[in-house]
Amino acid sequence: WTEGTQADADRSLAELAALAETAGSQVLEAVSQRRDKPDAATYVGSGKANEIRDIVAATGADTVICDGELTPGQLNQLEKILKVKVVDRTALILDIFAQHASSREGKAQVELAQMQYMLPRLRGWGESLSRQAGGRVAGGGGIGTRGPGETKIETDRRRIRARVSKLRKEIAGMATARATQRSSRDRNATPSVAIAGYTNAGKSSLLNALTGAGVLVEDALFATLDPTVRRAESPDGREYTLTDTVGFVRHLPHQLVDAFRSTLEEVAAADLLLHVVDGSDPDPLGQIDAVRVVLGEIDAAAVPEVIVVNKVDAMTEDDILTLRRALPGAVWVSARTGTGIEALRELIATRLPHPDVDVEVLVP
Ligand code: GDP
Repeated sequence: WTEGTQADADRSLAELAALAETAGSQVLEAVSQRRDKPDAATYVGSGKANEIRDIVAATGADTVICDGELTPGQLNQLEKILKVKVVDRTALILDIFAQHASSREGKAQVELAQMQYMLPRLRGWGESLSRQAGGRVAGGGGIGTRGPGETKIETDRRRIRARVSKLRKEIAGMATARATQRSSRDRNATPSVAIAGYTNAGKSSLLNALTGAGVLVEDALFATLDPTVRRAESPDGREYTLTDTVGFVRHLPHQLVDAFRSTLEEVAAADLLLHVVDGSDPDPLGQIDAVRVVLGEIDAAAVPEVIVVNKVDAMTEDDILTLRRALPGAVWVSARTGTGIEALRELIATRLPHPDVDVEVLVP
């Protein structure tokens, strides 16, 4: 279920399938449905739920993934009807981030996001169960809210809370270290350029094209989780740092935006932002909007931005003409073929801050 048109829903569902494959699943069947709003009890409505149950039985699927965030009650109710594991978009994205996190900071950030996702669901589990029982079975209210079940949930909740606050402290410590590194870079007056953009837009490829560094490039969503900082040189011989950041995606779970705040601060602190867009995507402008929402949330909206439309090699003349009108100030490149990379280098040089050259050194 999405708020937009059928085309938006199809695109979102196709992206969900790509995400599921990135997570290592094999997608057997996609089902969609038009509704005014999600069904309060089962998200898809009971008729559709029965239809999905038949598909599950026919295909032998072991998991159903819903495009959207399910309430704890909806998740429970769906699992009861479908008899297989039900996962929502948020849990799927968190899972992919967990699989790909490699640095200590990245791992801590993802775990924190997962804990935050789990916490209300633990509580919700007991409550929704009792509420549903109360609504549907006379006299069933209250089951699961008292007694030994509650104690178990309480213990789990306390354990998770303790872990959450430990992770928060660890991440804060790492953020301080990162800020120190950053400020030493500032003192050395090395300008910094951050690469941000929708997932799979070609950020790693562009980083490689600009620096010649061998960064992992994967045709999978979220190949990039931990920021990579590289040194680059502009055509006029000035050095700058180039940072590749996490991939952005529609409906990036807010738990993740929070958890990745310190990583994303690299973007907020940059002198220049290269906002990479996949020109061959069916909806490049939608990608730009989704990225800008997150940039706003991390206070990076004020960083000077250059829109870099990538993958021009995969675009038709018509697509280029249409997009050119919507994005008059953009730079057009292909990280793959090298088209436009030199022009981008030159543009970066003109946009880098010019530090004072006459520094007086006072020797006592
Ligand atoms: P990231 O997730 O934004 O870092 O994207 P990557 O750099 O990992 O690239 C994602 C996919 O797009 C990979 O399969 C790349 O080979 C492909 N790609 C990157 N740049 C280009 C380009 O200029 N043209 C084409 N056709 N594909 C590209």
